[in-house]
Amino acid sequence: MNYHQYYPVDVINGPGTRCTLFVSGCVHQCVGCYNKSTWRLNSGQPFSQAMEDQIIADLQDTEIRRQGLSLSGGDPLHPQNLPAIAQLLKRVASECPGKDVWLWTGYCLDELSVEQQQVVTMINVLIDGKFVEALRDPSLVWRGSSNQVIHYLR
Ligand code: SF4
Repeated sequence: MNYHQYYPVDVINGPGTRCTLFVSGCVHQCVGCYNKSTWRLNSGQPFSQAMEDQIIADLQDTEIRRQGLSLSGGDPLHPQNLPAIAQLLKRVASECPGKDVWLWTGYCLDELSVEQQQVVTMINVLIDGKFVEALRDPSLVWRGSSNQVIHYLR
């Protein structure tokens, strides 16, 4: 997996103070996409073991307490991103108790593959669906267009 940006302290993408990772790779090609530069899987830089360790350490930080981790992109549920995302989420579950995970994807919840569903079992909140320009609504919180749904899963 490659990634574009990592924000160790973020108050924009999800509730509270969070760590946020924008991964590379997206197949959805939404018209009006705010993040076109992330579409190619090989854009950005490799998501290294050191980067994974850094995220875990930041989530464990007691000086700047993070509520959780936000995963966006690009698409964290791009089939080729699933192994790295699953590995990261297993570590968050075992090493960062009490932290929530929010994930943004262009897929809809009811069209996920078995492999994508397995990753979704490890997150708390899924914001799903493509960005639809005609349904764009700046008043919406944490989503760009009204077709997208915030699923509070657990
Ligand atoms: S799913 Fe997100 S990143 Fe992918 S094309 Fe649509 S708006 Fe852009």
